Amino acid sequence: MLEDRIYLSPPHMSSRERELLLDAFDSNWIAPLGPHVDALEREFAREIGVEHAVAMATGTAALHLALLLSGVGPGDEVLTSTLTFAATANAVTYVGARPVFVDSERDTWNMNPGLLAEELAACARRGRLPKAAVVVDIYGQCADYEPILDACRAYGVTVIEDAAESLGATYRGRAAGTFGRFGCFSFNGNKIITASGGGILVASEKDLADRARFLATQARDPAPHYQHSEIGYNYRMSNLLAAIARGQLGVLRDRVARRRANYDFYRRELGDMPGVDFMPEHPASIATRWLTCLTIDPARFGSTREDVRLELERHNIESRPVWKPMHLQPVFARCRARDGAVATDLFERGLCLPSGSNLSERDLGRVVETIRSVGARRGRPAALQPRTEPRPSGNGQSSRRSQEAA
Ligand SMILES: *Cc1c(COP(=O)(O)O)cnc(C)c1O
Repeated sequence: MLEDRIYLSPPHMSSRERELLLDAFDSNWIAPLGPHVDALEREFAREIGVEHAVAMATGTAALHLALLLSGVGPGDEVLTSTLTFAATANAVTYVGARPVFVDSERDTWNMNPGLLAEELAACARRGRLPKAAVVVDIYGQCADYEPILDACRAYGVTVIEDAAESLGATYRGRAAGTFGRFGCFSFNGNKIITASGGGILVASEKDLADRARFLATQARDPAPHYQHSEIGYNYRMSNLLAAIARGQLGVLRDRVARRRANYDFYRRELGDMPGVDFMPEHPASIATRWLTCLTIDPARFGSTREDVRLELERHNIESRPVWKPMHLQPVFARCRARDGAVATDLFERGLCLPSGSNLSERDLGRVVETIRSVGARRGRPAALQPRTEPRPSGNGQSSRRSQEAA
């Protein structure tokens, strides 16, 4: 008998989400926008300490509008982290710009500030600076913003922060999402808190927030007869989803604490295994450990990352390779990249473990036991490895419920 599936990062509702959702439903605010959207924007801005928050249909929509409002357009270049989910780079292409990928540093897995500075200097020499830099806070940890902001300021390049994976993290005491001119967040199904979908754009400048709201509601001029002087988008959040998001925001701190506790457990139980290294935390950072990520050195561990992932899958445990960097993606093959060796290595050896805030001790124990069993096979040829559990059949139900695309 296969045990229950353990998911990578499943939704975790408190009871308040249901109450708020029913309130929205019973008040007949089924429409997009409504009182819960307004309340969410206020509460979210207060939580992370920023002036303005604009609720969006998705995190990708927030990125798209941040790029538009930064004046990025056709033919422009935008520097961004190569180690990210495709949404970051896709948004750059929505405005007709071309992403230029910057490699990760080992210390945070985020954009390497030294390589960013080198790339900016090279662009300046060529006489063609990028219009913006979209800096990603990967897997629940802020990038090293001090040197990143210094470099971008020196060249007058706008910084947009993709904090979709790092709501609740801090860097030098400040919240993720507050370091750039814009910050972008996501409430997608497997993020640290979720509304099934949704996003938020934050900014400290009121005129930018107002303009984001305007563009996100089909760019309607202030007239009763639906007049439009420019192209807009249908990017606002539904009032129903905002109700769920408000409930989730109320338990964000608890969710951060639980994900950090998952990490501590994994670290305690697996940290002694040769060849296993965990994603580091920068000394000035408090990461959320949205996902607990580790790398496996096959020479010392005796098996590869894929061996471990497949063995977990055999035990009905979902894990995932670290993001395949954008400079290796076929769709971005013709884009420039400033190095990429570190991100490539993290991708080849990196694994994200089940990290939900609702994992039980028993679930965590199952994951640890399975990984230890692979490690214990060190030195034995693959053909002799015991295969006691059947492979899960991957029926429609489980694949529908698994939180696939980020
Ligand atoms: C999830 C994610 C996004 C996209 O958010 P959606 O709400 O799914 O559109 C953007 N960037 C990163 C790094 C993400 O992980």
